Amino acid sequence: MKKFKKTYIEITNVCNLNCEFCPSSERNPEFMKIELFEKILSEIKNYSDQIYFHVKGEPCMHPLLGTFLDMAYAYGYKVNITTNGTLIESSKELMLNKPALRQVNFSLHSFDANLKTTTKEKYLDDILIFAKEASKNTNIISSLRLWNLSEDNNINLSEETNKYILRQIEDTFNLDYKIKEKLGIARGITLAPNIYLNQSSLFNWPDINESDGNVCGFCYGLRDQVAILVDGSVVPCCLDGEGIINLGNIQHSHFDEIIENKRSNALYDGFSNRNVVEPLCQKCDYRRKFNK
Ligand code: SF4
Ligand code: SF4
Repeated sequence: MKKFKKTYIEITNVCNLNCEFCPSSERNPEFMKIELFEKILSEIKNYSDQIYFHVKGEPCMHPLLGTFLDMAYAYGYKVNITTNGTLIESSKELMLNKPALRQVNFSLHSFDANLKTTTKEKYLDDILIFAKEASKNTNIISSLRLWNLSEDNNINLSEETNKYILRQIEDTFNLDYKIKEKLGIARGITLAPNIYLNQSSLFNWPDINESDGNVCGFCYGLRDQVAILVDGSVVPCCLDGEGIINLGNIQHSHFDEIIENKRSNALYDGFSNRNVVEPLCQKCDYRRKFNK
């Protein structure tokens, strides 16, 4: 039986930002209904312990976020949320008081990728206040993500990428070193108990219209992760933001059937034999990191 380390549930595909690196979507904007969320929780129970509220969209915009966290707790799931952080001030009390919540990933790189509606000081302050309160009063992990680096570290150093954010983080946590000095050695840094800085290079969403493709390789899609989009479509990974590898819809079929159907097994068995079956996977950059 398949078992997933990560099951992504896209509780909404609506976002209050418009990051320049986020491909525009053809899908209808939606907020997941409570009935569909409950069906998902009940059907994935044998496959997952941890769920992730994200594929596209900003989960803090969902009006039932608190209810969903309570339902996840009742089913015994741990929940991880990835957020751009812009709404954390208003979501803070709710989130800090939900025992299902395991980790909050803040995509700090999203701020610079948008027209500014607030100041960077306020944006960052709100996130750091949350992280410090979570560290002091709960077991919630806060991961501050800067996934906008260049592969070439010399470029990051010469362009002083993320200069303001890094300086604020150094001051807030009284670091006795400059984060950029560690960049070449450690991209993951512990800032305080349960607060981490995670730096990485910008990744490209797979694009079905790309001309280049490779039919030989491996990926963990549908092996250690699976994703369910807001309309109930099941896809093999959190990178299929358009639902191109649509394995079936959990609104109409049971999750058991979907992940064992012909298309799912072809994808899974293909990767077992280093054959990349799906055209989107053939064009996916992310997969290439498993093939080095
Ligand atoms: S990358 Fe995330 S924060 Fe940015 S527009 Fe897309 S969904 Fe929103
Ligand atoms: S190759 Fe890319 S698109 Fe295909 S399952 Fe893996 S991460 Fe997803």
